Amino acid sequence: MTGSRTQQILRSVFGHAGFRPHQEEIIRQLVDGGDALVIMPTGGGKSLCYQLPSLVRDGVGIVVSPLIALMHDQVVALRQLGVRAEYLNSSLSADEARRVENALRADELDLLYVAPERLLTDRFLSRLDHARIALFAIDEAHCVSQWGHDFRPEYVQLSTLHERYPRIPRIALTATADAPTRAEIAQRLQLENARHFVTGFDRPNIRYHVRMEASGAREALLRFIREKHAGEAGIIYCLSRKRVDEVAAWLNTQGLTALPYHAGMDAESRRRAQERFLNDDGVIVVATIAFGMGIDKPDVRFVAHLNLPKSLEAYYQETGRAGRDGLPADAWMRYNLSDAIQLQRMIAESDADEDHKRIERQKLDAMLGYCELTACRRQSLLGYFGDTLPEPCGNCDNCLSPPQTWDATTAAQMALSCVHRTGQRFGAAYLIDVLLGKDNERIRSFSHHSLSTFGIGRDLSANDWRAVFRQLVARGYLFADHDAFGGLRLTEQCRPLLRGEEMLQLAKQEAPAKRDRKSHNGKSRGGVAVSGDPLFEALRQRRRELAQQQGVPPYVVFHDSTLAAMAAERPQSLHEFAGLPGVGERKLDTYGAAFLEVIKEHLASQ
Ligand code: ADP
Ligand code: ZN
Repeated sequence: MTGSRTQQILRSVFGHAGFRPHQEEIIRQLVDGGDALVIMPTGGGKSLCYQLPSLVRDGVGIVVSPLIALMHDQVVALRQLGVRAEYLNSSLSADEARRVENALRADELDLLYVAPERLLTDRFLSRLDHARIALFAIDEAHCVSQWGHDFRPEYVQLSTLHERYPRIPRIALTATADAPTRAEIAQRLQLENARHFVTGFDRPNIRYHVRMEASGAREALLRFIREKHAGEAGIIYCLSRKRVDEVAAWLNTQGLTALPYHAGMDAESRRRAQERFLNDDGVIVVATIAFGMGIDKPDVRFVAHLNLPKSLEAYYQETGRAGRDGLPADAWMRYNLSDAIQLQRMIAESDADEDHKRIERQKLDAMLGYCELTACRRQSLLGYFGDTLPEPCGNCDNCLSPPQTWDATTAAQMALSCVHRTGQRFGAAYLIDVLLGKDNERIRSFSHHSLSTFGIGRDLSANDWRAVFRQLVARGYLFADHDAFGGLRLTEQCRPLLRGEEMLQLAKQEAPAKRDRKSHNGKSRGGVAVSGDPLFEALRQRRRELAQQQGVPPYVVFHDSTLAAMAAERPQSLHEFAGLPGVGERKLDTYGAAFLEVIKEHLASQ
């Protein structure tokens, strides 16, 4: 029985034709009164896993979330579906909070979002004692992990819920992948008896592009946006506030709408930037990593990095903000060696203990290794998270336009032995001069012109050598020693290569424009295929008007995917309209006629 009831609500309330992987099993587990621990990537559809059972079960679903902005967005979106949803957090006035508490007491709510510190007050818990509760959902459950970056002390106390309400089903959800965090969540939240649901980490609609570029990254980014994402929403990450301001200002001079966002701005300017990003079409935010947590915009079409992220976890999380709606999206990165050296220095100079630093260094190495890959990026990224993809993905730069490689074994041996013979204390520029046999003052002063490696590298250009050194650093054969002014030192890993027991293939350097063009010619365009189509644009305009009238973001009215289906199928009656993805009963009533009118006008004008 519950099966058909959940199916019916999925269609009539949410307007979805079917479940995403695992959703149905998770929902059944909760509806039947069991607990669940859910690990699902961003965009996988976690919210439905607690929203739907809250509607099926008696009483209100209590959702614990640390992110105030996200609570607001979810509640706005749920109300559009006709669901009775509210939130309680510090952003409400005393009167508003009282109204919500009264609604809770009167059993008038389907879902209530609560900040953890509020939930744990005696006052709120005593109200809950008298309420009918459908379930507890603990969102962003990795916040309970003391080792994670988002640790929140209140989360640890959420185990109270189990002690106080042992019969109410609980679901904890996170997108954080690793097994230790998962075990910690289960233990701290007393979810040992919960069923675990771990879905794969693949985001097949995201296309990964990465390249090293010493200069001109900004111009390459502009070209990429103009060619693939004109008029679409995106996020650009930079390492420093200064760079954020500079890039945003420059993009504006190029005719794009780009807003800076970083911790140095006052709260009001940041709030405004975020609001415009959510509410207006085609806004780009240029940000330090401070931006993105708690932003659930489904139609972000690209995420660009102008610097190297500090770990693959950060990269995966940041790029994961693209394409939550499942439509094609791009993760695009340009980085250079000085980023790597700067991050290495930040690790070396931090106050963390040695163990911690070692882990951070390993994470950075993995990040660099990913950047320098010549094989499928998705296979490597998923592999890092313990997931496997049997075949190359066909939707990353390396799959779409395989880089040319060359046998760099001999060159690498020359470079490494030059490092060794000069005493492991010089940077790449000096070492290259030695390899090329430059006759200069500095080399003479160290007597390095008499070394056996002096001048042995004349077959390659200085540029080629720079690429060799960069890739040797990226692949962990060399590291920059910050206690010795960044001089390059050998690592253990060099031995087999120096002994001739290992070969090294490196990517050939290609002119950037050429390679860009190739990877843009992949089979599907990165952007939404219909952007630019007159009917789609007219539907978008109507959506914008309807959203503005209510003061909500456009995607709350309908997602791009629903508009795209409208433009493709051109329904002519409410009955046909009801069959579109993302159209439930409430939205059919509220918006069906308005969009049918746009379609009718369009057909008449043809
Ligand atoms: P998460 O919280 O895991 O990042 P969300 O719950 O925000 O993901 O869902 C991501 C997107 O997928 C949302 O736009 C949501 O409407 C959509 N979605 C979720 N479940 C389904 C489904 N069964 N069918 C179609 N779309 C879905
Ligand atoms: Zn691939």
